[in-house]
Amino acid sequence: MSRFIILMYHMISEPQTAAEVRFACPPKRFEKHLQLLLRKGYTPVSINQVSNYYTQNIPLPDKAVLITLDDGFEDNYLNALPIFQRYQIPAVIYLATGLIGKTNQWMSAPTFSMRKMLSWSQIKEMSDHGIEFGSHTVSHPRLNELDDAKIDQELTVSKQTIEENLGNECAHFAYPYGLLTESARDLVQKTGFKTACSTRSGFNNVERDPLILHRIEVYGNDPAWKLSQKINFGSNKASLLFPFQYYAKRLISRLG
Ligand SMILES: [Zn+2]
Repeated sequence: MSRFIILMYHMISEPQTAAEVRFACPPKRFEKHLQLLLRKGYTPVSINQVSNYYTQNIPLPDKAVLITLDDGFEDNYLNALPIFQRYQIPAVIYLATGLIGKTNQWMSAPTFSMRKMLSWSQIKEMSDHGIEFGSHTVSHPRLNELDDAKIDQELTVSKQTIEENLGNECAHFAYPYGLLTESARDLVQKTGFKTACSTRSGFNNVERDPLILHRIEVYGNDPAWKLSQKINFGSNKASLLFPFQYYAKRLISRLG
């Protein structure tokens, strides 16, 4: 096993505004994405398998892929859970614990619609069905703008809240907006998280820092060919010219 990929999604529902097109993947399209991964021979794995790979050296299957959903939108329960169950695909959802049962208050720009977030009873039901939950802080702040004491509080409180409600260890984290600093990364480790997802793009392998895992962002309107290209090249960028540019660059670096 040389490398594995982590995909990042947010809402699994129809976009309500133009700005949401990137973040809201319609359920039919989401299902097609998962079908494509299976057809291409990818093996969906859980965040615990990824964690065990780094902490206990337990190998991952070939072409391993982890599905992640950020923020904890209610549509994850309504629309994504039935699809995960249909295909027996594991997934991890990163929760901003201060917003559970509320709305997406942190997305204050008028270009976004108001969305309901998951409730604890929905989260518990999903957890009973094998969906894993990680922390995405309490209030979804920009960690690079907070001092260490405030970061520590965001990490510790969200971790404890999830553990108290679900009754098991919460060992996984995702940085809001993908924003991280060296001290935020170290505090994530100190709080007891074993993995943390960033929004840096690319493949992961044994050399990757498990507290700065890389993810490929799948846009809500990515057709199958774009998803295909993103997972082949480990990049968020996809265009008809991209493969040409990629190989041209490699050729030039080999010649140079
Ligand atoms: Zn987020």
